[in-house]
Amino acid sequence: FLSMGYALTNVTQYVPTMAQAAGSIRHLGDLLAIKPTMVDPPGAADLKPFERAIVFDDVAFNYPGSSFRTEGLAVTVPKGSFFGIVGPSGSGKSTFLNLLMRFYDPTEGTIRIDGVDIRTVAQESLRAQMAVVFQESFLFNASIADNIRMGNPAATLDDIHDAARQAEVHDFIVSLPEGYDTLVGERGGQLSGGQRQRVAIARAIVRNPAVLILDEATSALDAGTESKLNDTLRRIAETRTVVSVTHRLGSVTSADRIIVLEHGRICETGKHQDLVARGGLYASMWARQRAVRQTDMDEEEEE
Ligand code: ADP
Ligand code: MG
Repeated sequence: FLSMGYALTNVTQYVPTMAQAAGSIRHLGDLLAIKPTMVDPPGAADLKPFERAIVFDDVAFNYPGSSFRTEGLAVTVPKGSFFGIVGPSGSGKSTFLNLLMRFYDPTEGTIRIDGVDIRTVAQESLRAQMAVVFQESFLFNASIADNIRMGNPAATLDDIHDAARQAEVHDFIVSLPEGYDTLVGERGGQLSGGQRQRVAIARAIVRNPAVLILDEATSALDAGTESKLNDTLRRIAETRTVVSVTHRLGSVTSADRIIVLEHGRICETGKHQDLVARGGLYASMWARQRAVRQTDMDEEEEE
């Protein structure tokens, strides 16, 4: 099982839609078949370890046959930062990540990592530096430990426990009668949505990626857990880089920089406080969500 870990990691980390649809490991062939087919240029070199910055240089993109268009993406994500991408549903947040991970190439403009156009490097070497957590991450009906280890087949039990601690799920796991040996059930069905999300985050953390990418990965967490996890992400972002895509602004209040997308364009950028003060789209989303968040917090305190 674990000898397949590396291939499985690639598939489950990068092909969420199929991974979600697949019921079990026997669908692996199907998963591989739909893996996006971006072609490496002949003799493509490996991307060197990420050192400085990811730059979107005036990027525009439209999906083939779709009317959605994203344009004017001029963005710099420095190494060692916590970068937030927010905006209403359908504004192009996940599309931004699809471009960053090179599931699609821009129709205009260039994405560079440390000055190197990502179209020119071997894709595996690009994605090897990233770990991505989706809203619904696929868990196999294996133990919790094995589900986390899938992020990094070389991880020791200590590494796994440490990743789980960082993902705020260790205490829950050790409270189970079988602890880390607990089987998660078909598609992780024995766990709640929030527990699955935290196991998936632990799986990403155990990879020790240069760039940790979260796509609505904390949507099922209560506000208290989310806030603790934010502290972890802040810490991770000191030495690595965190890109968090969310429509829940509570996940990015401590981000170094936030871009706000609307209809595929960047409409505002700044830190949380700047954006709130600006009184634009972010401020109105924040006002709406803060009321909900407060109610959520109050309820937890009553427990
Ligand atoms: P968000 O993550 O902000 O909710 P997305 O980036 O997923 O938004 O989607 C932006 C737009 O692009 C939506 O209108 C969506 O329907 C469209 N879209 C997303 N993925 C594809 C695709 N693979 N093919 C065609 N259109 C797509
Ligand atoms: Mg999305």
